[in-house]
Amino acid sequence: MLKELIDQFYIDNQKNRDQTKFYITDAGKCPRAVFFKFKNAPKEPMDARILRIFEHGENIHRNIYNILYRLRMGVVTEVSIPSQEIISGRADAILCVGNENYVLDIKSINSMIFRKMQGPKEENILQIQLYLHFFNIKKGILLYIDKDQQEMKEFFVDYDEKQEMKEFFVDYDETLCKSLLDKFYVLKDQVEKNIVPARLADYPKNWQCNYCQFKDVCKLANGETINWEDFKKKIEAQSQTA
Ligand code: SF4
Repeated sequence: MLKELIDQFYIDNQKNRDQTKFYITDAGKCPRAVFFKFKNAPKEPMDARILRIFEHGENIHRNIYNILYRLRMGVVTEVSIPSQEIISGRADAILCVGNENYVLDIKSINSMIFRKMQGPKEENILQIQLYLHFFNIKKGILLYIDKDQQEMKEFFVDYDEKQEMKEFFVDYDETLCKSLLDKFYVLKDQVEKNIVPARLADYPKNWQCNYCQFKDVCKLANGETINWEDFKKKIEAQSQTA
């Protein structure tokens, strides 16, 4: 009884904002899934359990902010990138340690993934690279927190000098940032011209497909680019026969 009420509370109160711009967290995401978000394509509802996991992650972030302030290091939290035409984003924090500025990105993950981690996740590297790019800061920290066991791992993103623990360092990469931004411009063009992007090359094995809220819609189209207006008619026809 109570369980159902709590679940319903989460479902009723979930943020369901329309996507009208790109976010740094879209870097590395499937372009087709981002396109579907822009077009408000039909999607699987989010499970109440997943919503609670997100909320737990937000609480972990807040706890870390609190500790950072109490450590009395120079810190500002939830800092938006300078506004420009293509992308928005908010870094978790900018810290000053030893007269050096760092962008901090906090990720809470489950124990199983945490234990296996030898280095930062690819998509997290792409995101922090863009923060470094827009803040013009050359150093960053990816802080991972095991939300089940409360262990932590940190990985550094550094601009140039050689580091002793080299495997834990990733250079700020201007070329990579430019290519990520180019991809956003291509997707912006596809959104404006109503062209549904192709599926991920390794669909459906890519991990993103497992968690994708648009997988049913995606299945209706083939793997290539397709006109959104034509595809929308197919989705509507399908929902009438269902
Ligand atoms: S199912 Fe996979 S390829 Fe299709 S939209 Fe989702 S993430 Fe992209």
